[in-house]
Amino acid sequence: MKNLHCPQCDTQRFFIKNEREKNLLVTVTEEYEIKPVYPEESLVGFDLTMLYCLGCSWNGSPKSLRGHKHKNKY
Ligand SMILES: [Zn+2]
Repeated sequence: MKNLHCPQCDTQRFFIKNEREKNLLVTVTEEYEIKPVYPEESLVGFDLTMLYCLGCSWNGSPKSLRGHKHKNKY
């Protein structure tokens, strides 16, 4: 399974947040499925529409991530 990348710094790891401002480390698959890096973690209560990049200041929706297929463009 391939993961999507940050459009700015190319990392595959992101945080999501819940209403208590708790952070959860996740990756996002090519199918825009958000998966916790640690499988025992639950996504319940977290905002899955906003991702915060682990490597830079980027944040945005899963759909705005860069897939590996687009790399050939550059
Ligand atoms: Zn980034």
